[in-house]
Amino acid sequence: MLEIYNSLSRFKETFKPLHEGHVGMYVCGPTVYGDAHLGHARPAITFDLLYRYLQYLGYKVRYVRNITDVGHLEHDADEGEDKIAKKARLEQLEPMEVVQFYTNRYHRDMAALNVLPPSIEPHASGHIIEQIAFVQKILDKGYAYVSNGSVYMDVEKYAKDYPYGKLSGRNLNDIVTETRELDGQDEKKHSYDFALWKKAAPEHIMHWPSPWSEGFPGWHMECSTMGTKYLGEQFDIHGGGLDLIFPHHEAEIAQSCAALGHETVHYWMHNNMITIAGKKMGKSYNNFITLEQFFKGDHPLLSKPFGPMVIRFFILQAHYRSTVDFSSEALEAAEKGLQRMQEAYTRLQKLQAGKETTVEVAGLRQRCQEAMDDDLNTPFVIAALFDSTRAINTVHDGKGTISEADLNELREVWKTFAIDILGLRLEEQGGDAGKQKAFNGAIDLLLGIRLQAKQNKDWATSDKIRNELTALGFQIKDTKDGFEWSI
Ligand code: ZN
Repeated sequence: MLEIYNSLSRFKETFKPLHEGHVGMYVCGPTVYGDAHLGHARPAITFDLLYRYLQYLGYKVRYVRNITDVGHLEHDADEGEDKIAKKARLEQLEPMEVVQFYTNRYHRDMAALNVLPPSIEPHASGHIIEQIAFVQKILDKGYAYVSNGSVYMDVEKYAKDYPYGKLSGRNLNDIVTETRELDGQDEKKHSYDFALWKKAAPEHIMHWPSPWSEGFPGWHMECSTMGTKYLGEQFDIHGGGLDLIFPHHEAEIAQSCAALGHETVHYWMHNNMITIAGKKMGKSYNNFITLEQFFKGDHPLLSKPFGPMVIRFFILQAHYRSTVDFSSEALEAAEKGLQRMQEAYTRLQKLQAGKETTVEVAGLRQRCQEAMDDDLNTPFVIAALFDSTRAINTVHDGKGTISEADLNELREVWKTFAIDILGLRLEEQGGDAGKQKAFNGAIDLLLGIRLQAKQNKDWATSDKIRNELTALGFQIKDTKDGFEWSI
């Protein structure tokens, strides 16, 4: 019998993969009917961190992160229409155009955040046959029933044989009072029964043939199906946001136990949620800030643009199981912290080794590793790296020395933990803000040379700079005090 863990705390001691040297990891991916926002960034970064760390520990990791492109109904369920189908209908697009468009944009945003692509990225719509077979297995075992062309999980029957609600710590009574899903209520035996297959309404444009009806799979079905297809009937880690524990992951457990007779997942791992200025993200609060809006500073709640590395650094400054509250002030502080790290990293590359070490650098690797082993304690890793900046700056300022061996070790630890594991891009001096500053500085320099040429009546040089910058799209205006420019 599989022992089930609900976290990876102290996982150096407790984590034992099912197959030595290999880790199978499944993470619930995005539903692709809109742009990625902060709520997408946090799980992506959390499990990217785990993926990177497991590889650092020497495991061969198969990381599966799905794309939900079918069957994800509106939560309030009054419309009962698939979000992708709705978008496609409103914009007169083929649903798969919507899926492709937002999948591309999701990949673009994840690459900006330096989130590594998973090993396999299966689409729910590409696994309809497997999902139908999975539903059939549950029916064959007697834990589901067909009603009016739809198939529902018989939760009461299941709960007699298996502990339903164990992951979320709920019992059936809690679930009855919590279940507000009215969709298909008259077809179901109980309100808490959830759909494994739904018969499509006539206006529903995404549907497939099945033994029960022309329809589509229930949302929870894709993860049970694709997780076991690519990672086996039992696999190591299943992750996602805390909001997915119930009903999504609880339903996945029930589906897998019902179909296979046993648990599938060895370790469940959930990242906590994000709030914006103390409020949950939601349309009614007008605080749904997409990643693109963060990168461009294009939202009333943002004081300025924040580069992807600032977002990544800010998320990693908190432990993944704590809530994170976003505000412009907090991001500005994170930006300063990241800049300090980038400066220290750049200085570290330029340091010269001396004969002996007079600064405090011992034990940094151990501190970082122990922090990561303690349930991926990234705030502690960052604090340890910050502590070592004192030594870097002391040597840089000529007030201390470091031996060649210690310098190499220090560089190696920074490369391993800051770059490879935390996934921070520190090489790009100053990140996006730094690039912008360098760019502005270069244009100012060029126009300064032109001003000087004009004062020297060197019209050829002055005109050349002006004309060529204009051809590149710059608008240059001479003013009383010198010049102004824009693009
Ligand atoms: Zn899922």
